[in-house]
Amino acid sequence: MQAEPQAFDRVLSSMCTEPHPAAREAAERFLATNPGDPATYPTVADLEEEAVSRLGDLVGLDDPTGYVASGGTEANIQAVRIARDRTGRESANVVMPESGHFSFQKAADVLGIELRIVPVDDELRADLEAVRECVDENTALVVGVAGTTEYGRVDPIPELGEIAREVDALLHVDAAWGGFVLPFTDHEWRFDHAPVDTMTVDPHKMGQAAVPAGGLLVREESLLDTLAIDTPYLESTSQATLTGTRSGAGVASAVAALRELWPDGYRTQYVRSQRNAEWLADAFAQRGYDVVDPELPLVAVSIPERLFYDLREEGWRISRTGSGELRIVCMPHVTRAMLESFVADVDRLAKPASAAVATND
Ligand SMILES: *Cc1c(COP(=O)(O)O)cnc(C)c1O
Repeated sequence: MQAEPQAFDRVLSSMCTEPHPAAREAAERFLATNPGDPATYPTVADLEEEAVSRLGDLVGLDDPTGYVASGGTEANIQAVRIARDRTGRESANVVMPESGHFSFQKAADVLGIELRIVPVDDELRADLEAVRECVDENTALVVGVAGTTEYGRVDPIPELGEIAREVDALLHVDAAWGGFVLPFTDHEWRFDHAPVDTMTVDPHKMGQAAVPAGGLLVREESLLDTLAIDTPYLESTSQATLTGTRSGAGVASAVAALRELWPDGYRTQYVRSQRNAEWLADAFAQRGYDVVDPELPLVAVSIPERLFYDLREEGWRISRTGSGELRIVCMPHVTRAMLESFVADVDRLAKPASAAVATND
């Protein structure tokens, strides 16, 4: 019997989604290509240049440099690597808010760099005072998150940039998830808003490209050059990526999605997802639950543990934040009808046992 992938009709926890049909088709067509070997696979190498150029529009870079990574994790590791190599210090450190993604733990681990975690403020954004106190002359990189994984919050990027500049550190913005919705908000997060040096933005999340398609963008080409390694047996002479053989499917699908959706398609999607998130947050608030205001299309709400497991039993794919709140990501595949059906299950399952008995007779 052939295995079937899960359907998306009960998936409320994922930061990935169904690829756009054009992105799916492009991924299939370019499955057997390797952008890691551009002299052998020139068409997909050209597509990668197009992807970087289109991502440049998204993140406010006129003359962008970068590449399509395997995901946000690789892009974040590479950003830390660039910063570490630039300082050349033995005891370099990275300063990041506690809302930062766990991929930075991996980066610190493989790169042997100290990760300094600072608290967030009442708004769940990087606490600037704490960042200021934490940086020193060994700080290679300050990390700001534009769309946090748990609450969809945007750190004060321009202010973080000033702090980084004061200690001659680089500023990295992690917009892995937020990058494809933030262009339609008033947030300041881009290269042309602040002294951002490097950025992670993932087409395979809100960008509706097939997995694997992450993105690393850098302000100056020289930053990427610090990563370049000589490649003896390939026709191309150097490689800045972390992986060797890479997925041409990810590259081609990222280009297809961007051609199809940037900017109007993504804007329409953002508006729909944001309305859904606000509708869901209201629905929970009306029922007396504590809801974290959805600044981006992501809702966090405190519900009893028992209810969480009962909803999972119903087949809902849901997850929780580190503090235990239910976390719903309003991705493109999440429709209002799905959310209505989810809330109906919440109502049914949240009924105290006694009430259920009482209505039964
Ligand atoms: C998802 C995410 C990542 C990791 O990206 P992968 O593609 O899963 O490797 C990094 N940072 C943020 C903010 C994310 O939401």
